Amino acid sequence: MTEQDGAGFAWPAGCRAASAFTFDVDAESCVLVNDPAAVDRMSLMGHQSYGPRVGVPRLLRMLERQEVRATFFVPGFTADCYPDVVKSIVDHGHEIAHHGYLHEPMRGISAEDEAEFLDRGLEALDRAAGVRPVGYRAPWWETNWHTPRLLAERGFAYDSSLLDDDVPYRIETSAPGTPSLIEIPVDWALDDWEQYAFYPGWTGSGVIESPLKVLEMWWLEARARHAEGGCFVLTNHPFLSGRPAKTHALEELVERVKGLDGMWVTTLQEIAAHAEEVCGPGRVHQRPEVRPA
Ligand SMILES: [Zn+2]
Repeated sequence: MTEQDGAGFAWPAGCRAASAFTFDVDAESCVLVNDPAAVDRMSLMGHQSYGPRVGVPRLLRMLERQEVRATFFVPGFTADCYPDVVKSIVDHGHEIAHHGYLHEPMRGISAEDEAEFLDRGLEALDRAAGVRPVGYRAPWWETNWHTPRLLAERGFAYDSSLLDDDVPYRIETSAPGTPSLIEIPVDWALDDWEQYAFYPGWTGSGVIESPLKVLEMWWLEARARHAEGGCFVLTNHPFLSGRPAKTHALEELVERVKGLDGMWVTTLQEIAAHAEEVCGPGRVHQRPEVRPA
């Protein structure tokens, strides 16, 4: 097969589309990386630690009720602070994947610096739960042109940070001996941050959307992607979607998505393993050239 644009992607026999529920367990890391002094803000730190302490257990119970396996992207700092939470996610049969060390902003950084963050994250996941992840998601979905090569050199099977397609595809990485990587694209419309994140003096617009509105929006995306034979990848943060009404709305969505005929509900690792079998030659990403006027 060659590159796909939704319709015609060769999902496993009996499946016409795929979906994955993913959780980014950012906790305190995404605050502290930009503002180390925020460590003094007890309420803000608690708002973030709610994710691993309360949100993750609630989400694990929900996923268990629904018999769905999910992918959890865990920054190394979260793994160092909450190793038992990481072990509990593993014990429930879910996938652990890489999400930086301290949720570092990767924008514009050198390959050397990015490699160091990747390696620190790998070491922390190993320390916490003996995990060697095959998947990576860049903090804030911010990649550099050298990112695919760094991932391939470290043996990652897939990335899930780019926003340029509706189905998985192979990326040409130019890494010696490890020529390609699978990309499983994401979409800001399928991220709970835009819907729910608000903390005075830190982030958000001040509007916290109704979970009913969010359910409607995500359900429309899921149905459209199912109809087109696409891939529905939802990103949630336990400090947001791990709160009661939001988890209830998410559970309703999980139930509906499971009920779509021929919808494969699985982990990104399994989607990547399948894509590795069916995707054709790697796509070469072209960096745009801007000429001075
Ligand atoms: Zn994140």
